[in-house]
Amino acid sequence: MSESDPISSQHDTLIKGGLVVDGARTQKLDVAIKAEKISAVESHPSELRAAKEIDASGYFVIPGIIDAHNHPINLDKMDTFTLSSAFGGVTTVIPFMQNMRSRGIAGTTSETIERFIEESSDISYLDFGVHAILFGDDDVTTEVPKLIDMGVISFKMYMTYPKRGMMMPDEKMLEAMSIASDMGGIAMVHAENGYCIDYLTEAFIESGKTGREYYAKSQPRILEVEAANRAATYASVTNCPLYVVHLSAREVLSVIDQYKMKGLDIFGETCPQYLDLTNQMVLEHGALAKIGPPLRTSEDNEAMWSGLKSGVIDTVASDFCGFSKSQKYSGGRSTGSIEESEDIDPNASIFDASFGGNWTEQMLPVVYEEGVNRGRITVNKLVQVMCENPAKIFGIYPRKGVISVGSDADIVLFDPAAQHTLSADAQHCNADFTMFEGKEILGKPIFSMQRGNVVIENGKIHSKQGSAVYLTGDVNLTASAPNGHKII
Ligand SMILES: [Zn+2]
Repeated sequence: MSESDPISSQHDTLIKGGLVVDGARTQKLDVAIKAEKISAVESHPSELRAAKEIDASGYFVIPGIIDAHNHPINLDKMDTFTLSSAFGGVTTVIPFMQNMRSRGIAGTTSETIERFIEESSDISYLDFGVHAILFGDDDVTTEVPKLIDMGVISFKMYMTYPKRGMMMPDEKMLEAMSIASDMGGIAMVHAENGYCIDYLTEAFIESGKTGREYYAKSQPRILEVEAANRAATYASVTNCPLYVVHLSAREVLSVIDQYKMKGLDIFGETCPQYLDLTNQMVLEHGALAKIGPPLRTSEDNEAMWSGLKSGVIDTVASDFCGFSKSQKYSGGRSTGSIEESEDIDPNASIFDASFGGNWTEQMLPVVYEEGVNRGRITVNKLVQVMCENPAKIFGIYPRKGVISVGSDADIVLFDPAAQHTLSADAQHCNADFTMFEGKEILGKPIFSMQRGNVVIENGKIHSKQGSAVYLTGDVNLTASAPNGHKII
């Protein structure tokens, strides 16, 4: 880093000599920043000068990663969740928030989200948007318009977990889709057939088959395919853009592809865990590897990579949901509570364990190692699915997701030669485990900034809580908007 005369400098910061990556190209460019925005991008070497200059030679210069799927409501709230994300090269998060009546906290979804935005503005380390989750007890006719006015334009509905009280009944899902569609919003679904999962789960429990080997069998892949097809059918009928979260079963890709071909604005998401882990983790680690949909097979992992490459899958996000080991074992499946348990019993029923894992910090390293280093996707595709596409789909592009003049200066320097090993000790969330323990990675985010201010440098956090900005989704900018940024 070198200092030049700040008075004569036109720009605040200059990142020079790095390989700037977007969804289509990798170019050696100098990137200048002024007053939180990218103020110039020119071929290297350029005449650009700034008060602070950062030598990025040897590094990829990528837009800050957007984690568009996470649940910071358990062990990690927006403080430690965003801290952990930041160390993973993330600069923008879009968490899910929902009414908390099942946890004894009063208020409608929009009231809960209003409080969440206020609290997060105080404690988050990173800029954030919000997705709403709609449950069966929500009044969608008043809530959806209210939320869209607040800048919450995406609405997730669970097609599963009826016994946990989380499933959205089909007729209400249609109603919510219809209203969202009229107002330019987008529906999101967790696509699994919940009645069938509950039926199979109860049958296993009744016959005493509660070991870890029965978990994947209780949520077979066909149930994901059926639900995705049903959601896409409803989205077609209501003409509502649809985002299907955490794809895991290879057969579901043809459903997404088929509706894309028909012209429906349908988007698919997968996660690092569905790209790299299999049910073997559940057999080895039991409750710790329990997520929904379940981890599947290596053929499914390969299919997810192919889906990213071909464009059937549009995004990668983490589905972060922080739990400690003891919280995973003790569950909370029926009550939604997340008691810490004194006794850890790895042989307790797999059906009592909590769903979820803490994947955000490892997301970029895993996708880079398994995707780019192994030649399954290019670094440009990585930027497309982790920066550009989520920004476009959720109405925050080109403010976020791209390095171009006028965009927020959210920039990550990624060192492709940095070797490191993923571990619970090295992560910054509260969880005391990671399912990527011991995984060796070549490539690491070593520096990041948000709106021109340093977030991560020399392995330390520099951004301050209280400086995060709440990002409203703009219905006129979504990938599905008539004059928006269509994803090709
Ligand atoms: Zn989720």
